[in-house]
Amino acid sequence: MSSGIFPIFTNLISAGKVLELAKYTKELSKLFSSSENILLICHLNPDGDAIGSQLALYHYLREKNRKVEMISPNYLQEFLKWINGADRINIFIRDREKCKKLIEKADLILMLDFNQPSRMGEAENLVMASGARKVIIDHHLDLDKFADLTISDPSKCSTAELIHELIMLINGGPFLHKDFAEAIYIGIITDTGNFEHGTYNSNTFRIVADLVETGIETSNIIDRIYNNFSTDRMRLLGFALNKKMVVIPEFRTAYISLTRDELNTYYHVKGDTEGFVNLPLSIRGIQFSALFVEKDGFVKISFRSKGNFPVNEFAAKYFSGGGHLNASGGEYPGTLENTVTYFLQILKENAGRLNDENS
Ligand code: 5GP
Ligand code: MN
Repeated sequence: MSSGIFPIFTNLISAGKVLELAKYTKELSKLFSSSENILLICHLNPDGDAIGSQLALYHYLREKNRKVEMISPNYLQEFLKWINGADRINIFIRDREKCKKLIEKADLILMLDFNQPSRMGEAENLVMASGARKVIIDHHLDLDKFADLTISDPSKCSTAELIHELIMLINGGPFLHKDFAEAIYIGIITDTGNFEHGTYNSNTFRIVADLVETGIETSNIIDRIYNNFSTDRMRLLGFALNKKMVVIPEFRTAYISLTRDELNTYYHVKGDTEGFVNLPLSIRGIQFSALFVEKDGFVKISFRSKGNFPVNEFAAKYFSGGGHLNASGGEYPGTLENTVTYFLQILKENAGRLNDENS
């Protein structure tokens, strides 16, 4: 195969671009059939799109009688554990020896829903040192060049949507398989917040139509993905909104900060604060939301926005992070208090962009 980076843009409406995509699907298809041991790896703290993409490819490749294994760098969130095939995902930090062997044995490694090697956590060095052919399938901006074949399309709402298109082209039509469809559907709904944000379009709904065709139960899936809070998590959310949310109307901004002690009071487990950052955007007039969570020696931050305020640029410039236009994250060294103070300072610097009625 050729090496290098091949960004592709998969708008099916444009015939020229279909040809371009077809070239890369041919390469991918060849890689699938010529590889003995295929390994799928997603990013740290995998979200619904990372796991949905991984499981969709897993079901497709299994159906085609390929040998395929899966690794998540650090864990699997509770709300994703029920998905068919999720019990086959190996967790690197829990099963280092086995995962090491899987990486060494692989002759094709597919990296899903991320664009920097460090997003593989402890698995990064082993994967990068492996002699396997490497493919990235992703929809984030600003790719690092670290694979033999890069299939990246930031115009897709999710990596799952991109995978659906790739498999459709390889398959010569929609791959109508219920487990595959369920996994793709989960990737699409979680990355768009149930079609509330992101870069979905009419093509996304055409894909969803194909998924529904397989008999997936969409309302049951949504129920299992979203309505599975623990009681403690629900009370933590209540506390965060009631006692910890600060609203700054002049900057159209709201933020929530949570200390370790506060998290401990609610018997916090990993993943409990997921999605909290979206909620302040439901307040009329608020267009920028931040969540600060105290960690050991640093603060983990999530940003969300509505409209044109580019939270990916904001996260990259001030918090060593990145992401998408309306959803990003980053980190800040030091205490929660210092981080919030710093945030309030830079908020003032960005005031012009935040209090613009039209943005
Ligand atoms: P979340 O707020 O859900 O943790 O992350 C939202 C998005 O921001 C992710 O999909 C990812 O693209 C990006 N993101 C979150 N944290 C980081 C980070 O520390 N560094 C970078 N580069 N991107 C991040
Ligand atoms: Mn994604």
